[in-house]
Amino acid sequence: MKDHGVDATSQTANIRPDMITIPDLIRKKRDGGQLSDDEIKAFIQAVKEKTIQDSQTGAMLMAIWLNGMVSAEIKALTREMMSSGEVMEWPDEWKNFMVDKHSTGGVGDKVSLVLAPALAACGCKVPMISGRGLAHTGGTLDKLESIPGFKVEQSREQILEILDSVGCCIVGQTETLVPADRVLYALRDITSTVDSLPLVTGSIISKKGAESLFALVLDVKFGRAAICKDLESATELAQMLVEAGNGLGIHTAAVLSGMNSTIGRCVGNSVEVIESLETLKGNGPDDLMELVTTQGGLLLVMTGLMSDLSEGRKQISEAVVGGAALSKFQAMMEAQGVNSDTAQLLCSTNADYYSVLRKAKHQLELKAPADGIVLEIDGLVLAQVLHRLGAGRSKAGEPVNHSVGAVLLVSIGQRVTKGDPWLRLHYEDLALTPDQRNHLESALTVGADKKIQTQQKHTLVEKILPEKYQ
Ligand code: URA
Repeated sequence: MKDHGVDATSQTANIRPDMITIPDLIRKKRDGGQLSDDEIKAFIQAVKEKTIQDSQTGAMLMAIWLNGMVSAEIKALTREMMSSGEVMEWPDEWKNFMVDKHSTGGVGDKVSLVLAPALAACGCKVPMISGRGLAHTGGTLDKLESIPGFKVEQSREQILEILDSVGCCIVGQTETLVPADRVLYALRDITSTVDSLPLVTGSIISKKGAESLFALVLDVKFGRAAICKDLESATELAQMLVEAGNGLGIHTAAVLSGMNSTIGRCVGNSVEVIESLETLKGNGPDDLMELVTTQGGLLLVMTGLMSDLSEGRKQISEAVVGGAALSKFQAMMEAQGVNSDTAQLLCSTNADYYSVLRKAKHQLELKAPADGIVLEIDGLVLAQVLHRLGAGRSKAGEPVNHSVGAVLLVSIGQRVTKGDPWLRLHYEDLALTPDQRNHLESALTVGADKKIQTQQKHTLVEKILPEKYQ
């Protein structure tokens, strides 16, 4: 990022009558003041028009990080960020059925791959704009790109066409959508201001606002492998996100869900596609189905397609288990560039997935160190090791290896005997170092605690906001 050679002292943010300057705005926020709507508009406009130096934007981001923002400021920030670029438009007859979801990031989080087609099968339109993985978290676009031919870049016209013919698409952010977020996100990354709740809220909700949604559900994760380490901080973020979404006129709800282990049994791009396809064939793990049916059920309630959450859950579950969602997924793959024979093969019963998806050169099974009950599987540790083996990226733009991944062979609460395989690792020539192997082995905790067998019945969803949907 380079500065733009603007004279800092002579800059005036375009707010009459007081002709306040950018340094004045930074000072006001630095000193704990509350920025007005017009001041936030001036700041975002300056970011968009590049009339502000990167150092000044960085200073403002740090002032926001240090002093936070009240809800009126967050609302204005989100609205101005959204308006910095194109805001999508939909045919009138779709408007009340435009829905999407967003997750704050998990390990093995493949909910979008199942939920988008399930919602389309229930009559919704889902213009899902997803992201790529960064650090230990996976990205939906990377997962889909492990399918040969799948194109995540689609123009506005193509998105309209796919929504018309299929009902759902999963695509990357276009150049023209929320340009202010691109600038702010890059500067947040290099100024240690990524983890500011108002900035996270503005970034996420402005992009959803630009999709012109009717309803949005947010999966806010908490736990060892999530950005929010506890339910309290996740609740704070969820409340901010819900308020900002509603502030843009989007019916918004949040699901707070635990993220200590993994979602389902597979982590890594291709293996997660396989687990998603198996789920769409009715063989999904309970935890993944719980997240899909809860989030989908909420969206069906918010659009008025279903009258309560239990009906909504049932409808989504039927779409998944009955195969309607699988047909939508197959149609979506074809509409997004996958050859029809390939799409058909992937969606067939007893598919030989590795005749289409590339398998990693090597597989290695790790063995349980003792007899006992599986008490814990640390999702963060798994994700960190897989990341180093090439499944993830450290910098935006880096390639990922789609074939690197891991499949859990046991679940929490299961009794194991010493020597039983508990994890199958898929890796390439970049082999596991002794340190990485130790680290990976430390992810499994085996013990004698019988209580875990009852705890295992626990569900991932802890809370839903607003409470009226609970
Ligand atoms: N996802 C986003 O799009 N922005 C953030 O700031 C965090 C997660």
